[in-house]
Amino acid sequence: MSLSGPGLEHLAYLLFAVVTHAAVGYALVSAFTDRPPRAGVVGAVLPDVDLLFPLAWTFPFDHRGLTHTLAFAAAAAAVVALARRPRWSARAAALGLCSHLLVDSFTKSGVAWLYPLATERLAVAASVHSGWGAALLWGFAALAVAAGRRSSDAGETAGSATESGMSETPDAPRF
Ligand SMILES: [Zn+2]
Repeated sequence: MSLSGPGLEHLAYLLFAVVTHAAVGYALVSAFTDRPPRAGVVGAVLPDVDLLFPLAWTFPFDHRGLTHTLAFAAAAAAVVALARRPRWSARAAALGLCSHLLVDSFTKSGVAWLYPLATERLAVAASVHSGWGAALLWGFAALAVAAGRRSSDAGETAGSATESGMSETPDAPRF
């Protein structure tokens, strides 16, 4: 298989789509949680692990199959919760995962959110991974990161003025 022409173009498209997902996950977690944004990046990129599945595999083990469902998002968030890495929080990972499903819903092939309960796909016929769609997503991500940074700066200033010696205590295991 030669990587030229349409093949290379498609690979570039996929890579750009994955990086866009990462940017959205990073932005959401940095804007709306106090968790490390990389938890959102991992969550937002994880569904596209199905790009590595053999091409011969069919639904639900093909691209936009099982890994693009709420069930998978819930399972992955549960794994994060059970891994007891408190700084990573299941909520931040779930935020990244759900952002991926939402973004991919704005494409022709869409996402079967409720599989295996239902196989219908939410597909808003748009091409969110290129052109204006991608520009909007990157713009949103940049704004969200800027907003998150501003609020964390304000938090740090307030925090250092009052409690400078206090270290962050991770959630203790409850069982
Ligand atoms: Zn995807």
